[in-house]
Amino acid sequence: MFPRMSRKHRITILAGDGIGPEVMNGAIRILDAAEAKFGFTVERSEHLVGGAAIDATGHPLPPETLKACEQANAILFGSVGGPKWENLPPDIQPERGALLPLRKHFGLFANLRPGVCLPALTHASPVKQELIADGFDVLCVRELTGGIYFGSPKGRHEENGEPIALDTMIYKKSEIERIARVAFTAAMSRKKQLLSVDKSNVLASSVLWRETVIEISREFPEVQLSHMYVDNAAMQLIRRPGSFDVLVTENLFGDILSDEMAMISGSLGMLPSASLGRQGDNGLYFGMYEPSGGSAPDIAGQGIANPIAQVLSLAMLLRFSLGENSAAEAIENAVAKTIADGFRTGDIATGRDGETKVGTQAMVEAILARF
Ligand code: NAD
Repeated sequence: MFPRMSRKHRITILAGDGIGPEVMNGAIRILDAAEAKFGFTVERSEHLVGGAAIDATGHPLPPETLKACEQANAILFGSVGGPKWENLPPDIQPERGALLPLRKHFGLFANLRPGVCLPALTHASPVKQELIADGFDVLCVRELTGGIYFGSPKGRHEENGEPIALDTMIYKKSEIERIARVAFTAAMSRKKQLLSVDKSNVLASSVLWRETVIEISREFPEVQLSHMYVDNAAMQLIRRPGSFDVLVTENLFGDILSDEMAMISGSLGMLPSASLGRQGDNGLYFGMYEPSGGSAPDIAGQGIANPIAQVLSLAMLLRFSLGENSAAEAIENAVAKTIADGFRTGDIATGRDGETKVGTQAMVEAILARF
């Protein structure tokens, strides 16, 4: 028998500020274990970003950090920002000066945000328990580089002495096609149900959106496609989140719905995210992976942050950028088992019988023990 070729990958790690470095340490330990267990290697280079980079170099995204990202298959990102840098001019603030330029530079057009509420954590959700008894698992695929946030004309002027402000919601067919393909592909690896959310009863851009998604659905005959207006989707997500699998929508609607999903899921500390850009011939994407939450300055440095969002971001990176699907699944299963076995950081603890309250490191140990 021939020895199995070892698989080699390269990632750039940007831990950032606040709880970023604390939870990133945990994710790196799990990456070490995944390499050993699944026989691949990930070359890593760690660089400064956000407030830490401002302190060291005066810029939230130094050129050497960007260069390291260009040389990698993916970026594992922590979080940036905090009170120390809030009064700087907007363009060199950690989030605006680092996150937005990274998205733009790498053309990260698809934002994937899972909204998962595990059955053992339904108490953390503000939704009535009887509506979510079994938990839920929704994936929101949001278009990230088009729509009203970037459309032109945009601006403000005066007409007859009165201020007028204008934004333009605009989509090219090709922009809808590529996000639809990401969403259908994601649906293929789940329950094969895709809901496209639009406002095609009012908006011309939504009419094109719906037509195009229907066209692309012919490439994915196994996926069951349905449509919903965004106002109804906002209501149904609260009334019956368990009935959703994958939803795909444009930038503004996705911004709002994905935050609604994070809120009904219970804890920000549990939710990862992926922003995907160009797709290689091997089907894998260049992507940036980060927790849905921020740098949580209120608990930074105390060793109590929940590392799970960062760990699950690593799992998404392994799946979408490195093609290490078995490792990704094993990490997700280990996290689910750790929660089912009662381990809780402060953000998800209730003090009920059967819970073990742990800090960041002990949560990582518990995940490793189940990996
Ligand atoms: P936040 O997400 O940092 O915190 C909101 C609440 O959630 C806090 O109570 C925090 O303790 C809690 N929380 C978040 N992640 C947690 C975790 N892993 N474990 C336990 N609890 C967790 O949002 P915020 O307070 O509005 O913002 C704080 C800073 O983060 C700001 O400077 C903001 O600009 C920045 N921010 C950065 C990003 C990013 O890097 N992508 C995103 C959002 C906010």
